[in-house]
Amino acid sequence: MENNNKIIAPPSPIEIIKENSNYLRGTIIESLNNQLTGSIKEQDQVLSKFHGTYQQQDRDLDDERKHQKLEPLYSFLIRVRVPGGITTSAQWLALDELADKYADKTLKLTTRQAFQFHGVLKRNLKTTMQEINKTLLDTIAACGDVNRNVMSSANPFESPLHAEVAEDAKRISAHLTPQTAAYHEIWHDGKLIEGGEKEEEPLYGKTYLPRKFKTAIAIPPRNDTDVLSNDLGFIAIIENGQLSGYNVTVGGGMAYTFGNNNTYPRVADVVGYIPKDKIVEVSEAVLVFQRDHGNRSDRKNARLKYTVDRLGLDYFHSELKRTHGIQLEVAKPYKFATLGDKYGWSKSADGHWHYTVFVEGGKLIDRAGYPAKTALREVAKSHTGSFILTGNQNVVIAQVSEKLKPKIESILKKYNVIDGKSLSQLRQNSIACAALPLCGLAFAEAERYLPSLVDKLDKVLEANGLLNEPITIRMTGCANGCGRPFLAEIGLVGRAPGKYNLYLGASFVGDRLNKLYKEMLSEEEIIAALTPILEDYAKTRDTNEHFGNFVIRKGYVKATTEGKKFHE
Ligand code: SF4
Repeated sequence: MENNNKIIAPPSPIEIIKENSNYLRGTIIESLNNQLTGSIKEQDQVLSKFHGTYQQQDRDLDDERKHQKLEPLYSFLIRVRVPGGITTSAQWLALDELADKYADKTLKLTTRQAFQFHGVLKRNLKTTMQEINKTLLDTIAACGDVNRNVMSSANPFESPLHAEVAEDAKRISAHLTPQTAAYHEIWHDGKLIEGGEKEEEPLYGKTYLPRKFKTAIAIPPRNDTDVLSNDLGFIAIIENGQLSGYNVTVGGGMAYTFGNNNTYPRVADVVGYIPKDKIVEVSEAVLVFQRDHGNRSDRKNARLKYTVDRLGLDYFHSELKRTHGIQLEVAKPYKFATLGDKYGWSKSADGHWHYTVFVEGGKLIDRAGYPAKTALREVAKSHTGSFILTGNQNVVIAQVSEKLKPKIESILKKYNVIDGKSLSQLRQNSIACAALPLCGLAFAEAERYLPSLVDKLDKVLEANGLLNEPITIRMTGCANGCGRPFLAEIGLVGRAPGKYNLYLGASFVGDRLNKLYKEMLSEEEIIAALTPILEDYAKTRDTNEHFGNFVIRKGYVKATTEGKKFHE
């Protein structure tokens, strides 16, 4: 039931947990102090997400632990918030060390320009959080029903204009960060605020947002933040070489629930244009719209994308005007050319060099014959510039001086670091989510499996002369879409162990969703399904025609024109 465009229905259990949490405190301290279990209480599992940490369990070990009459091997994921993905060498070295000391010796680079530690045991959780804080980074709002890590086009040092945009990402992030002192109380032994329930959370209130809220900025022609997959996005508009302002996008999102066609991925609408100095104000206004109108009864229909579809854009515009006096101007023209990163060396106008390293599945780890994590640690010891995480799970060694370049080059060479250019275009444009063994929602493998599937698909591409044709492929272990699979020309989404749904027909630039082509495919069936289409593509594609457009033109799938039609 709706009244005044608000849903009148009982709030979901998570809303009650938030309401009663005393601004995200709950009983987290008590849970952390309970030494009888490696887990924390259920309500604290909800609340700890807002602090940037999730409880997980190693599903590979479930049977063995059960057999031994032990509880599951619980551990925690910690997500480090890094607006725009920019870190210093000192921060890189500290995080690298923490991964070895408290996590699973892996630095996971996420699709939202954040770091993730996996496998942190409860007894080490607080210390790890404190050590992260010592690096001047934090984890608050990295997860939970709040504005998450704000993404920005990968290299702020590419031009002064890129730097301006990265600063805007930081300003949005700072403005939309929760104010609760609970974070410092719990993790950093901050002073407890007596009667904390009186503490104010001016933007969010006691119940925060109905659901997660994602924000990104892109600078055309590169859509390396997948801006239209975000609840709120800004597309930089460049006029006469200057940043004049932004087109505003709302209502993007990737997740849907299998079997529930009321849920769907959605590409954001471009709703207007704002001068650049309005970006923080508009961010707040859109967040407030979602805070006040999002569905708090049904979490599966709670993201801004559903709010926008339910209430319509006219109402959205009228609310922006009513609450913040904001009238968006008509959107300005822009054109995206790619979703991908610029691999290898590039030079910016200020004379600095930048090197983008390919990190498969975002998993930075030392493998036999390829110690990539060690290589970047060695680079960090000499590097005076920055490291920038990209939205494609890669990393840019940025701001390398002409003088230092040979040294960095020799380290990269010594460890055989891959810039990506030597790989097939399919691999260069691949993304995988973490999935098994730690993600409790995964039905199938993703990060551990996609590399070997790409090996096999590369053979098909090679046989058809397509190794250098840019095609995007993304795999996730479930339809929650953390790896943005519904914006990939080849999307693979786990349904069961070893079985995937195959989606085709997304655009190469991130402005059209794909469509289900076949369900529940094994590896053999995926290759069998794709081989004839790739053969056809090799023979009959138009000049410069991307694979996603080709499969639509040839009728393999229908184009998905809007989120609501994803299932049609
Ligand atoms: Fe887990 Fe699903 Fe997200 Fe992958 S997409 S990390 S399986 S929730």
